[in-house]
Amino acid sequence: MNRVYNFSAGPSMLPLEVLQKAASELVCYGESGMSVMEMSHRSPDYEAIINDAEAMLRKLMNIPDNYKVLFLQGGASTQFAAVPMNLIGRTGKADYVVSGQFSGKAFKEAQKLGYDVKCIATTKEDNFDHVPEVTKDMVRPDASYVHICFNNTIYGTKYGYIPETGDIPLVADMSSCIISEPVDVSRFGVIYAGAQKNMAPAGLTLVIVREDLLDYAEEKMPTMLEWKTMAENGSMYNTPPCYAIYMAKLVYEWILSIGGLDEMKIRNEKKAALLYDYLDNQDYYVAPVKKGSRSMMNVTFVTGDADLDKKFASEAAKAGLKNLKGHRSVGGMRASIYNAMPYAGIEALVAFMKKFAEENPKK
Ligand SMILES: *Cc1c(COP(=O)(O)O)cnc(C)c1O
Repeated sequence: MNRVYNFSAGPSMLPLEVLQKAASELVCYGESGMSVMEMSHRSPDYEAIINDAEAMLRKLMNIPDNYKVLFLQGGASTQFAAVPMNLIGRTGKADYVVSGQFSGKAFKEAQKLGYDVKCIATTKEDNFDHVPEVTKDMVRPDASYVHICFNNTIYGTKYGYIPETGDIPLVADMSSCIISEPVDVSRFGVIYAGAQKNMAPAGLTLVIVREDLLDYAEEKMPTMLEWKTMAENGSMYNTPPCYAIYMAKLVYEWILSIGGLDEMKIRNEKKAALLYDYLDNQDYYVAPVKKGSRSMMNVTFVTGDADLDKKFASEAAKAGLKNLKGHRSVGGMRASIYNAMPYAGIEALVAFMKKFAEENPKK
């Protein structure tokens, strides 16, 4: 077996134990005589899988009873439309914070649908090198919700705090930081995430929504986007992404087995600290993100020379450190170090960075 350290932003690494467990029951799951991929989603075997997945996620994230957990499809990007269609009925308007590309897309999608949406804060003029300061007085008092992207995958920024929005529900895209550390779910009205960054293979989208927010959906909206319908049908209004949900269950099980999100956070902090400490104590690479906004999951850095950046990514790949090239829209490098990235992967990366800096002096 020759597995590399895969720093891809998503789809990304899955825990080796999870892949091995899935492999061991790929062809025949338990006593069922078939693969999970071949199972009816209405069968008792599959019902146990999806019920366990939900129960484990509830335990892991300490999700209060008045929240529904939905296993959907369409990616986080589909929720950019589903969020306003489900919630704007509260008051007819909504506020957005634009802290990077995905939150910008979410804002644009709501605009495209013709809704009264307002960007109440952005850090665009600073190249998104930090997240905006969001305070309660910035929010329109009659907004249906405030939308934020909690961890900005492309720029490598994250909120170091949960914005206070009073009675107005906070909606957060947590695609790239979900289950990386404990988070107080009760502070949010809705949390959503594409699974392929930190939870499962692509194809699954998670929505966690407070029950009282299920009553504002547009009458004329696609049924498939309606959270209430999905909640009433236990995420089985139609065929759910069965195998991805099974994989998510194995990931939740793995995190619970190592000590839950408290332990996950300790490990993730230790990994991020190793990389940021190195970046802070040398002058070959520059980490563009301001200190209070640094992401624990996506670490961005540049050499300051586009050719060297390119060389870095290609030589790193040859050394078994894959997918370190930054997002096509920003360049430079990005190390995505989600839950499944072991500490040894960061040690290998830092060792490579030192070697590369020595061997490639700047002109
Ligand atoms: C990757 C990502 C998305 C897009 O997710 P899809 O599942 O591909 O639609 C949206 N938001 C954030 C924060 C992401 O990291």
